[in-house]
Amino acid sequence: MKSSSKSVCTVILGAGKGARANLGYNKVLFNQNGSPIIKATADKFSFCDKIIVVCPPDELDTFNDIFCDNQKVTVITGGSTRTESVRRALPLLDCDVTLIHDGARPYASENLIRRVIDDVLEFDSAVPCTPASVAIKAIDNGKARSVDRNGIYFVQTPQGFDTNKLIHAYEQIKGDYSDDSEVFEKAGFDVHITEGETANVKLTNPEDFLGGMKIGSGFDVHQLVENRKLILGGVEIPFNKGLLGHSDADVLTHAIMDALLSANGLPDIGVLFPDNDPSTENVSSMLLLSEVMQKISDCKIVNVSAVIMAQKPKLAPFIPEIRRKLASALNVAVDNVNVSATTTEHLGIIGEGKGIAASATVLIRK
Ligand code: MG
Repeated sequence: MKSSSKSVCTVILGAGKGARANLGYNKVLFNQNGSPIIKATADKFSFCDKIIVVCPPDELDTFNDIFCDNQKVTVITGGSTRTESVRRALPLLDCDVTLIHDGARPYASENLIRRVIDDVLEFDSAVPCTPASVAIKAIDNGKARSVDRNGIYFVQTPQGFDTNKLIHAYEQIKGDYSDDSEVFEKAGFDVHITEGETANVKLTNPEDFLGGMKIGSGFDVHQLVENRKLILGGVEIPFNKGLLGHSDADVLTHAIMDALLSANGLPDIGVLFPDNDPSTENVSSMLLLSEVMQKISDCKIVNVSAVIMAQKPKLAPFIPEIRRKLASALNVAVDNVNVSATTTEHLGIIGEGKGIAASATVLIRK
């Protein structure tokens, strides 16, 4: 191919906050299939001569660790805007062609990257675009005006440029711009459009980061006997019987703990809190739950959904309080803990009133 004789440098931008992803940390560090997104993105450019990764000032050590065994990568710290981050990389550009790429676009194909390089060699710039595939409206003063989508394109990266012209453009233009093609255009250069790829998405919103999710399920049954309190989800329910067990036998909390441990790949509560341990005799299961929460402190609970199976008593009046109590213990909003109750139509051990069962499903983000 044409590009083989020319040197290519890639700047990968990872210094943004990625606040829309709502991860609580830099989205390019999100672990997808065993490695951070920024590494997967940089690996796509491994055939280039040089890769400059731009990171936030306080994450320099983290980024250097990620790329410690990649000789082609130089990590530098970025500025407070995209344009400023690119400016900081300019002094390191010593190749014929420069590609500038979003750190959160790990799906750019090698074909696309080579197409961009080839077009830069022919046209001095190449910006991958895909035609607008949805209806477009311009909103002005609350009024929608239809826009002809013919001729409207969505812009992607990597954007490629003749290095000397790119440096010249950045020297001419002050201020901040949404991307490099705009800087190039404002400096008076023509921007050449290259065919983009619909798969080359920029990971932006929370739903783009589902890869780290795991589910877990738990199930438990306890026998109903006289002279015991009935505790469900940490709430005492007035009833003439209660559940029998080593602890307070809170069957709902037990199912939830097992679901949480399962999602985290940990052994169940039977292993964690053996029923021959005198220290957990008659203990509140909410206390055991707080121990489980400490063990899984590296995960974020997305939501919990649980079912209590009991013929009696009627549980509906107590569900709001159970949800509040569990939400507080699980450190999530009440909306993210739901508990339903069902009878078993007088069938089986539950239906005969011999016991109460609970099952729970949880979704977590590692
Ligand atoms: Mg149990």
